[in-house]
Amino acid sequence: VADRHAAVPPSGLGAFRNTPDTDPSVRSNREAAAAALLRVPGSRLGIDTIEAARIATPEALDAVLAETRAAGEAWGARSADERAAILHRAGEELENRREAFWELMAAEAGKTLDQADPEVSEAIDFAHFYAEQARRLEAVDGASFEPSALTLVTPPWNFPVAIPAGGALAALAAGSAVLLKPAALTQRCGALIAECLWSAGVPREVLRLIQVGEKAHGAALVGDPRLDRVILTGAFETAELFRSFRPDLPLLAETSGKNAIIITPSADLDLAVKDVVASAFGHAGQKCSAASLVVLVGSVAHSRRFRTQLRDAVSSLTVGYPSDATTQMGPIIEPASGKLLEGLTTLGVGERWLIEPHPLDDSGRLWSPGVREGVRLGSAYHRTEYFGPILGIMTAATLSEAIAIVNEVDYGLTSGLHSLDAAEIGEWLDTVQAGNLYVNRGITGAIVQRQPFGGWKRSAVGAGAKAGGPNYLIGLGSWRSREATA
Ligand code: GLU
Repeated sequence: VADRHAAVPPSGLGAFRNTPDTDPSVRSNREAAAAALLRVPGSRLGIDTIEAARIATPEALDAVLAETRAAGEAWGARSADERAAILHRAGEELENRREAFWELMAAEAGKTLDQADPEVSEAIDFAHFYAEQARRLEAVDGASFEPSALTLVTPPWNFPVAIPAGGALAALAAGSAVLLKPAALTQRCGALIAECLWSAGVPREVLRLIQVGEKAHGAALVGDPRLDRVILTGAFETAELFRSFRPDLPLLAETSGKNAIIITPSADLDLAVKDVVASAFGHAGQKCSAASLVVLVGSVAHSRRFRTQLRDAVSSLTVGYPSDATTQMGPIIEPASGKLLEGLTTLGVGERWLIEPHPLDDSGRLWSPGVREGVRLGSAYHRTEYFGPILGIMTAATLSEAIAIVNEVDYGLTSGLHSLDAAEIGEWLDTVQAGNLYVNRGITGAIVQRQPFGGWKRSAVGAGAKAGGPNYLIGLGSWRSREATA
């Protein structure tokens, strides 16, 4: 581990290398994983830190905003080199706590190890990547970067490590202080991130972990003009709610998705089945990036082969809790209710189950995966994000028709194509409407720098820069020409 990071030069614009995931062929890694999963049920990691983070009164909220903003002015005045050195150390601290993160992600979010481990790698990547990007910002000729003083980071529960860490690290790299408000369901993951960043040298007053006790405090926080920026990942409706608290809110929001993979007759169907299963049912489909539609084109739509292979693959998934190492698909985060329960139990006009989902115990959280066929253009299933382990199959006569089906939805986060035909790939790239496009690959698991992540249409609100990409930090401040400041 130490050697890996020694490769990042201490100064200058270093080359960025992605952090490797844990190698399961190494016996000690397997033993560490087994030990971490055994600790899951009784895990108390992070609890003390959370107690200190709760804001209970309007006066306390006011003080936190004032203090953190003042701390941000001082942090932003430090050199990018200085901040980058601390961020590289933060990457090392996150790596040192990798096993603790596995444990917390299993305990709080029901994440299986195969999902949790790459998420830790992604968080570490954000630290090293944004550290170098901060240096790049400072090195731009003729202009100086004016950071925001105060950024609120409000991440979701589905990526309880990579998304909060990424938002906080980006803002810190850009020279802003951070109020980090982890999702209520995954607070201990958030607390451990804060602990890693503090021990790397981020001052406690520059990164404040917070949790608001009441809805009214949340509205007061988001509406407060002392916030320069809000980084939100969550539902489109949450972004709209935030805007209702403050219409001029400077928001960088990655919101909902309703994502499809198109499969044409030229595709490698074995690969397509594997990628569809991983994209639809990884983390039980609880990703903004997840595939919840496949659109079969031409002869693939009519042949039995794809459906048979898909049915066999999906029905052989082992569903369970992450503390059991044989689990391939974990639970949903809370008992199924509302829209998701409807998606798991109700068919629309013309639809039928290829695989009907069932609850597997009394918890309401453990569902077998479902696949429905016959989804019609414009139907509820076609257009709604369910955020769970269900997949729908649609059909199209041609690729153009399939693309039109995909573009019909309001969202545009990720999109996939399985095709071995260059003309088809070209047509799809030119016309499909989504922020992240993947050809002959699953559509989840964007990798820092290689696949900067962000949406289009209702999948993004506010400044559209992509996380893990070269422009993200620019959205966290503004430029002034050097002549003007001199
Ligand atoms: N970045 C994640 C991915 O590429 C998705 C994040 C989300 O669900 O919000 O799968």
